[in-house]
Amino acid sequence: LRGLAQAAIEQHARLVADFPSPGVEFKDLTPVLADAAAFAAVTGALAQACAGADLIAGIDARGFLVGGAVARELGTGLVAVRKAGKLPPPVIGVDYQLEYGTSRLEVPAEGIDFTGRRVAVVDDVLATGGTVVAATRLLESAGARVEAIAVIMELADLPGRATIAADLGPAVRVHN
Ligand code: AMP
Repeated sequence: LRGLAQAAIEQHARLVADFPSPGVEFKDLTPVLADAAAFAAVTGALAQACAGADLIAGIDARGFLVGGAVARELGTGLVAVRKAGKLPPPVIGVDYQLEYGTSRLEVPAEGIDFTGRRVAVVDDVLATGGTVVAATRLLESAGARVEAIAVIMELADLPGRATIAADLGPAVRVHN
């Protein structure tokens, strides 16, 4: 994110070496969200990036924190894209590769009509891009059209953006 939001992130983010595993620098955005002005700057910038969407999809779990605020700011609906086993059946899900092993994301198969919904996917950090690509595929298999992916922070030394472009094509706008 740029401008005020970027300044807020730089001021408040806590960078933790070797967590959760050696060699990884964990971007802890907890203090960003805990500061009123920083939270407002970040959610405002994300909302701008998601303009035009009529449904915000927040990714488990830190994407929920900002997804709800963005949805309120834009006056849209909100859906939580959950890790496996959290939602009651019926669900639709997608399996995807992590660095070690696989993971699964799910959304409800009943109760939300995704058909034709214009969705923006929101998360805290874009790393390899695997998570947002999987979430986008899941939402599109449910009938939605994902128009934007917005994150608070992008890890520039990882190919997240390139992966999104290669796997999803240019129709999905990426914002950080
Ligand atoms: P990826 O699928 O590799 O893009 O990973 C993105 C997901 O993992 C997001 O939901 C992030 O919350 C989390 N994540 C990955 N790497 C980091 C990191 N270095 N710091 C904080 N969160 C991370």
